[in-house]
Amino acid sequence: MVAEMTGKSKLCQQIEEEIQWLSQFGADERNGVTRLLYTDEWYSAQEALQNKMKQLQLETYYDDVGNLFGRLNGTCSAKEVILVGSHVDTVKYGGKYDGAFGIIAGIIAAGYLKKKYGLPKKTIEVVSLCEEEGSRFPITYWGSGNINGIYDITRSTKIIDQHAISLQQAMHRLGFGNGTYIKPVRDDITHFIELHIEQGKQLEKSGLDIGIVSSIVGQKRFTVSVTGESNHAGTTPMKHRKDALFVSCQLITQLIELSKRYNEHLYVTIGKLNVTPNIANVIPGSVQFSIDVRHHEQEILEEVETTINQLVKKIMQKSDMKIEIDRWMSEKPVRMDNYLSEISKNISSEKNMMYMELVSGAGHDSQVFGQFTPTCLLFVPSQGGISHSPKEYTSGEQLEKGVKLLIDLLYKLAY
Ligand SMILES: [Zn+2]
Repeated sequence: MVAEMTGKSKLCQQIEEEIQWLSQFGADERNGVTRLLYTDEWYSAQEALQNKMKQLQLETYYDDVGNLFGRLNGTCSAKEVILVGSHVDTVKYGGKYDGAFGIIAGIIAAGYLKKKYGLPKKTIEVVSLCEEEGSRFPITYWGSGNINGIYDITRSTKIIDQHAISLQQAMHRLGFGNGTYIKPVRDDITHFIELHIEQGKQLEKSGLDIGIVSSIVGQKRFTVSVTGESNHAGTTPMKHRKDALFVSCQLITQLIELSKRYNEHLYVTIGKLNVTPNIANVIPGSVQFSIDVRHHEQEILEEVETTINQLVKKIMQKSDMKIEIDRWMSEKPVRMDNYLSEISKNISSEKNMMYMELVSGAGHDSQVFGQFTPTCLLFVPSQGGISHSPKEYTSGEQLEKGVKLLIDLLYKLAY
C-alpha cells in the first residue's frame, strides 16, 4: 500500500489548478470548453499536455490519429503496458471535467509514483485519447477505436463535418493520418484504467465518494414509422379516421409501460417524434418516432426487442395501419474487469472512502477497451449530475479521492 500522503490539500490544489489550466485550451464564450477534434484548440491542448508529460520525464509520443501517450518504462516487463487516461475532446460548450479529469489524474498519478518509488516493474502509459464524443464528425470513440483496431483509417475520407471537411483532411492539416507517426493499433495493453466524473446523480444522492463501474449498458435504437391517412379535421368522422399519431401514442404508452416489467435498470426513451403534416386542422397521416433501449444484460435487451416487435404487430392488426420498425443500432453491454473492481473496492475501504458499484448508462472509452482488455472505470461524483455543460463541477476534495485511489491501483498493478 502506498504510504499516506502528506500535504493532502497540496494534491487537492494541484488537481484543481491543472483542471483549470487545461480548460484554457478551448475556453469558450459561455465559460465552458469547446475542444472539437483536430481543431486548433484541440491541438494546443495536446501540445500542452505533451509538455506537461515531458516535464515529469515521461517519454512522450503521438500515434497516427493523434492519441498522445506519456510512458514510464517498466524495469521488468517493458512490453506489457498498463494504460491510464481518458479523452481530450469535448462537446460544444462542454465542461472542464469530462475526459480532462481522467488525463490530468493519470499524469499526476504517474508523476507521483515515479517521484516516490522510481520506475515501475510494468510499464505505465498515460493516454490523452484524441476523440470520444462524436461532436465534430459523425463518429465516436475515434481514439480508443483505433487503438483497438475497430476502425479503418481509410474510411476517413468519407466522414465529413458540418463544413464538409473530411476527417482525413482534418487529420492531415495537423500532420496526422499519413503515416508520420506510429500505427494506432496496439497489442501490448494489459489493462486500461479510466477515471471519470459520473455525469449522473447516484453518488451525490447516496453521499458516496467513488463509483466502481461493474458494466456499461448495451443499447438498441429503433425508428418506428406509422402510416395512416391525412384528412380534414372537421369533415372526417372519428370512427373513420386513420390517425397515425393516435396509434403512435398508444404504442408509445405501452413501450414506456413495458419498462415497469423489469427492474429499474431498463431504460426506454422515446426522444424524437415527427408528425406529418403537423398542421392543427389536419389528421396526422404519418408519424415517425425513435426508441432508445438500454440495459446492462444482453438477454434482457434481446427479450425487449422481441416484445417490442410483438407489440408493434398487435397494434398494427388492431389499427389496420402500416407500422414499420427499423432497428439501426445494437451495441452489446460491456462488463468491466472483476479483479480490477475488487482491488479498487479494497483500496477504497483501506482509505475510508465510501464507494458503490454501479452501472454506467452513458458510453465511455472504457466500453471499447473493455471488449478486448481487462478494464476498470471509476467515477467521482458530479455536482447535480450535470455534465456536457459549463456548469459541470466536482470539488477538489472529491477529485482528490479519485486520484488517490488511482495512485494506489497503479501501484498495486505496476510496482
Ligand atoms: Zn467523457
